[in-house]
Amino acid sequence: MNDTTPAPSNFIRHIIEADLAAGKHDGQVVTRFPPEPNGYLHIGHAKSICLNFGVARDYQGRCNLRFDDTNPHKENVEFVESIQADVRWLGFDWEDRLYYASNYFEKLYGYAVELIEAGKAFVCEQNAEEMREYRGTLTEPGRASPWRERSVEENLDLFRRMRAGEFPDGAKVLRAKIDMASPNINLRDPTLYRIRHGVIHHQTGTEWCLYPMYDYTHPISDALEGVTHSLCTLEFEDHRPLYDWVLDNISIDCHPQQIEFSRLNLEYTVMSKRKLTLLVEEGHVEGWDDPRMPTVAGLRRRGFTPASIRDFCDRIGVTKSANTVEMGVLENCIREDLNEHAPRRMAVLHPLKVVITSYPEGQVEQLEVANHPQDEAMGTRPLPFGREVWIERDDFMEVAPNKHFKRLVSGGEVRLRNSYVIRCDEVIKDGNGEIIELRCSHDPATLGANPEGRKVKGVIHWVSAAHALPAEVRLYDRLFTVPNPDHAGGGEFTAHLNPESLLTLTHCYLEPGLADARPGEHFQFERQGYFCLDPNPSHGLPVFNRTVTLRDSWAKLEKQD
Ligand code: ATP
Ligand code: MG
Repeated sequence: MNDTTPAPSNFIRHIIEADLAAGKHDGQVVTRFPPEPNGYLHIGHAKSICLNFGVARDYQGRCNLRFDDTNPHKENVEFVESIQADVRWLGFDWEDRLYYASNYFEKLYGYAVELIEAGKAFVCEQNAEEMREYRGTLTEPGRASPWRERSVEENLDLFRRMRAGEFPDGAKVLRAKIDMASPNINLRDPTLYRIRHGVIHHQTGTEWCLYPMYDYTHPISDALEGVTHSLCTLEFEDHRPLYDWVLDNISIDCHPQQIEFSRLNLEYTVMSKRKLTLLVEEGHVEGWDDPRMPTVAGLRRRGFTPASIRDFCDRIGVTKSANTVEMGVLENCIREDLNEHAPRRMAVLHPLKVVITSYPEGQVEQLEVANHPQDEAMGTRPLPFGREVWIERDDFMEVAPNKHFKRLVSGGEVRLRNSYVIRCDEVIKDGNGEIIELRCSHDPATLGANPEGRKVKGVIHWVSAAHALPAEVRLYDRLFTVPNPDHAGGGEFTAHLNPESLLTLTHCYLEPGLADARPGEHFQFERQGYFCLDPNPSHGLPVFNRTVTLRDSWAKLEKQD
């Protein structure tokens, strides 16, 4: 693990510290991160990853990666691989402890036989509708299945034949025999096994047609791995009695403690895998790694760093109260990281041509400019300057709209960042009155700094036209127009998708050094935000994704000169 600073404390860490002090679990801490490989990981999973691996790191324990793969028709190898890549990218390491619940299918079957032998499980032939009807409600107890009192011999025989493939899907299930009158519906003879023919499991192929349920599989998998603290999200709180029942009724001598914490929800996005899958399958986004997605792959492509995501997970903390975190919290984490670490570059997103008539034709100067205003160690880079440069369209107005406008106006002066002060002498327009070019003159005495007594307030960025790297730039906004698309009403959550979540600019000019950028490298485009190179070019042009905007970009830049 590349991050060794302990995470802030929380109620789970308090429990673990108390357990360690009391010598529980032989003084060991073993956790696991148990994703179901039915989608890509999202930022909510990152919270669970940071918690599970973080606890193991800080208490000299271990954390396993375990695929909870009991639902083969929704799972596949692409998801298995992406999950491993994402956990690694986040900076965590399961070493040689990569497990699959399907590794335990044979053992799980054996424990089910034990339950049957002890009269604690039975084969039930009710169909789904009958089961629902008999289950009762929150206010009414359930009724016993007519199959509940079968003999042990008959149950064993049927269960063996279920495994052998003698019965079709849905014909029979194995149920625990617990308490149909329990106030906790999860204890009303829950299903432990179901039949699924015709699916090829990504790990076990066609070996099984009998699949264990999550609530049965999870506690046993935890116990088999010697997990001490089984950390899961709050919706499993009501399942904890079943978790404990399973372990108390089989011959296993390890009993992990399940502890629940609240899920992460983020404003302006959705987090359920069902919904994320729908966004991908219906083509609302480009794929699981679309930079607008809250997936780890999407955040990576958007330009988030592992450190910023870990920092975010530390900041939001771990509690039991449901919370929805503002997107701004996540954005601040990446901003702080990139402000410190991203080298500065110049890029013109809406170009306007400036011809510096006083500058000799054909002349090029290689300026040497700083990569970071506060961090000299980040060095300098050469930056070509010539007679023609691109500036940002809205850095020019013929007449200043108010006294706060410190950019270029007709007859006015402005500093080209890292270069000369120029004055706008002439505005060239096309037949429609559209400004297409500015003619300016430069003051050769102003290269890099203002001479004594000379005041130029505005500083704008630019790119030499003869050297510019043409590129596509993508600006992202919230994926949804409402903070909580899950509960916004108005039909499906997709009704609230933001039609302006992606703005593609196809005629941008970047300083030429950016031709060497590698995917995953981060830059601050001065005054524009933080950007990174997308792995895929578009129409032969490099594509840069805006990770996040700058805050107070003007205030900062204007102070510098
Ligand atoms: P979803 O509801 O999005 O399908 P899930 O909980 O079914 O998610 P799993 O793959 O089973 O997804 O999750 C693996 C682990 O990550 C579980 O321990 C789960 O509790 C945790 N987890 C999932 N979503 C979140 C979240 N939003 N916040 C914190 N932890 C989460
Ligand atoms: Mg799940």
